[in-house]
Amino acid sequence: MFPLIFPSKTSLDLRSRRFFHQNPLFSFSRAHSSIVMTVECTETRDEQHNEPKSSYFNLPALDVSIAFPQATPASIFPPCTSDYFQFDDLLTPEEQSIRMKVREYMEKEIAPIMVKYWEKAEFPFDVLPKLAALGIAGGSIKGYGCPGHSITASAITMAEIARVDASFSLFFMVHSSSAMKTIALAGSETQKQKYLPSLAQLKTIGSWGLTEPGYGSDASSLKTTATKVIGGWILEGQKRWIGNSTFADVLVIFARNTTTKQINGFLVKKDALGLQANKIENKIGMRMVQNGDILLKKVFVPDEDKLPGINSFGDTNKALASARLMVAWQLIGIPIGVYDMCHRYLQERKQFGVPLAAFQISQQRLVQMLGNIQGMILMGWRLCKLYEKGTMTAGQVSLGKSWISLKARETVALGRELLGGNGILTDFQVAKAFCDLEPIYTGEGTYDINTLVTGREITGISSFRVPALTQQSRL
Ligand SMILES: Cc1cc2nc3c(=O)[nH]c(=O)nc-3n(C[C@H](O)[C@H](O)[C@H](O)COP(=O)(O)OP(=O)(O)OC[C@H]3O[C@@H](n4cnc5c(N)ncnc54)[C@H](O)[C@@H]3O)c2cc1C
Repeated sequence: MFPLIFPSKTSLDLRSRRFFHQNPLFSFSRAHSSIVMTVECTETRDEQHNEPKSSYFNLPALDVSIAFPQATPASIFPPCTSDYFQFDDLLTPEEQSIRMKVREYMEKEIAPIMVKYWEKAEFPFDVLPKLAALGIAGGSIKGYGCPGHSITASAITMAEIARVDASFSLFFMVHSSSAMKTIALAGSETQKQKYLPSLAQLKTIGSWGLTEPGYGSDASSLKTTATKVIGGWILEGQKRWIGNSTFADVLVIFARNTTTKQINGFLVKKDALGLQANKIENKIGMRMVQNGDILLKKVFVPDEDKLPGINSFGDTNKALASARLMVAWQLIGIPIGVYDMCHRYLQERKQFGVPLAAFQISQQRLVQMLGNIQGMILMGWRLCKLYEKGTMTAGQVSLGKSWISLKARETVALGRELLGGNGILTDFQVAKAFCDLEPIYTGEGTYDINTLVTGREITGISSFRVPALTQQSRL
């Protein structure tokens, strides 16, 4: 079909008008000052419906190892070459062994399948039993079947997962560092005993719902309500972006108590009446993670599933502080994987008769990436030590998250350039990591919000809220 557009004043003689109007291949419509005549092309229609297609068309894509034999795809993950300042020296033998265990799992189990699931925007449930066998879920939580690792061990676990696949690290982060950690920090003894052991074994999956369609950065103003009734609470409202929520067994949900007007936390089970979670489609990053829009329509939560430790928005910060540190380490892991990929690719791919690694510009980019990574690791490591000492402040971890996200963004962008055309294909890791970095730049407090948290701490002045617009100067 193609449109012919005439000015509305065009005059056709009577015979022509009758011909066009009686022929079913032509149709007319008016647009502004024109008459649009749409002509359906007989040849195209015949071609589309009657001609048998040649076997030359619609062939499936070649396997990338055949299409581009000069470079190994990320399904065979490159060795780690980015540990230039020997970070292992700063780790205990236990932390080093956890690092190697997680690295081996990710390279062996996740690297070969990650592109397929990322492209389909599906989660690979089949890999969970082997992940559970690593005994890493619950990270630094002690008891209740959790490993009781140091916070540094949990951080490098996160980085090693993100190095290979950022989506998988976000799934793990929401489950372990957000949902499980909140239950550990704010749950009753009974709740911890009831929920944590099966979450630690990944027999059940957790989710963590704070943000809403109308309240993202301004999450403390959330509108979901919790109203006290006999024997429990009625939750009413909506949540947006909630990771793992489409399949999670237990969802930590924050809602405003209609009596105290303060934020409370609740454990909502997936089969609760009135609970609905719909997958958010069309994401450009973190595609393997199932982020959901949650509807809570008069959902009843029994008294025993209200978290006793969440009585204000400030209480959510207890969980947010450690989650923010883990997100900073996700942001460290992603560029490490990108650097490792680039390092191998530049040696394998030849142009002008030499490997790309031989060009000065390539080396400059690689070194800039490597320098960024060393800086990010050292800042992340110092934050872990401050957390372990019990002195890490909200401003410090926010500076870590915001600064690391900036450097991580720069690093993956350099990597994307280095790979040329293959830098836009998920098969070579870098494009996938490039896209995955954007959601983390925004999640767990955007770059701006984390900057303002640090700004408030160092100046003593909060600049989150703009003075009412009605008070603008008359000048
Ligand atoms: C992939 C992904 C996963 C997520 N997972 C979860 C989850 O599991 N659970 C959960 O509860 N939430 C989750 N979130 C939500 C996330 O926390 C929010 O997206 C984030 O807090 C930002 O909120 P917003 O998207 O509504 O952006 P907005 O708040 O609308 O911000 C838009 C822009 O305005 C800027 N801005 C806003 N306020 C200010 C200000 N005062 N000063 C200066 N600039 C400002 C922001 O920095 C940003 O650039 C997830 C988000 C993503 C993208």
